[in-house]
Amino acid sequence: MKYIGAHVSIAGGLAYAVERAAQLKATALAFFTKNQRQWRSPPLTTDTITQFHLACLKHNYTSAQIMPHSSYLINLGHPQSYELERSRAALLDEVLRCQQLNISLLNCHPGSHLKKITENQCLKRIAESINIVLNQTSGVTIVIENTAGQGSNLGFLFEHLSTIIEDVEDKSRVGVCIDTCHAFVSGYDLRSENGCIKIFSDFEKIIGFQYLCGLHLNDSKGEFNSRVDRHHSLGSGNIGLTAFSWLMKDARFNSMPLILETVNPALWSNEISWLKAEQLSKDHKDYFC
Ligand SMILES: [Zn+2]
Ligand SMILES: [Zn+2]
Repeated sequence: MKYIGAHVSIAGGLAYAVERAAQLKATALAFFTKNQRQWRSPPLTTDTITQFHLACLKHNYTSAQIMPHSSYLINLGHPQSYELERSRAALLDEVLRCQQLNISLLNCHPGSHLKKITENQCLKRIAESINIVLNQTSGVTIVIENTAGQGSNLGFLFEHLSTIIEDVEDKSRVGVCIDTCHAFVSGYDLRSENGCIKIFSDFEKIIGFQYLCGLHLNDSKGEFNSRVDRHHSLGSGNIGLTAFSWLMKDARFNSMPLILETVNPALWSNEISWLKAEQLSKDHKDYFC
């Protein structure tokens, strides 16, 4: 069973995010646990938590179908101690919010060295940050996402993610999320079925499917290997539909949130129904053209 959905807005409150996902007939959802561009947000109220749980119950979403995204401000590998501490505190706050909401996955970007420390030092810091946060929490898995490798962002190679995991003490609570757009622009050519087969066999060797907790399904405005992070609607970008059709037919991607972060929310409902249909279809059909 595939869980397919989109990263929806939390405007109006977390329960509204659940309603938005249900309107899209999504079977998975992502959202920001708080305003993603501010360091501080007021604590969750009992009412917010209750309304969120009631909405999930009403629309049959379990925690296996939900993978929120943490704030873009967080840099778990920051070279300077003040900023590093601030990032660690912010991630801790987000994991605690997930704990309160009974959410078991939290997606975050690994971090950036800002050209002040080496890649390896930065990867070590990221793992240390994850250890610090995991030590103070329970029940939530930190899911590190592969990046497009813009600027000094690390995590664009499978090897970066596996190096981080190696240094995480509690391996039962760390995982990865693969974003197709980020993979494509950092040199993983998903344009053909053979490309997809090779990339995910490398993924198995370097990281291992036991760590895969979800996918971000995005086509790419950026060119192959361009390191430019610009998402596009499925089939409209440089990856094309083949990869998404292939992913839908492979059982290794079952039972985890598969989340659209594509650029046009008006297309999400079509994209979701196309993806659902691709699980069963033999050859792929065009859907919005
Ligand atoms: Zn993503
Ligand atoms: Zn992106």
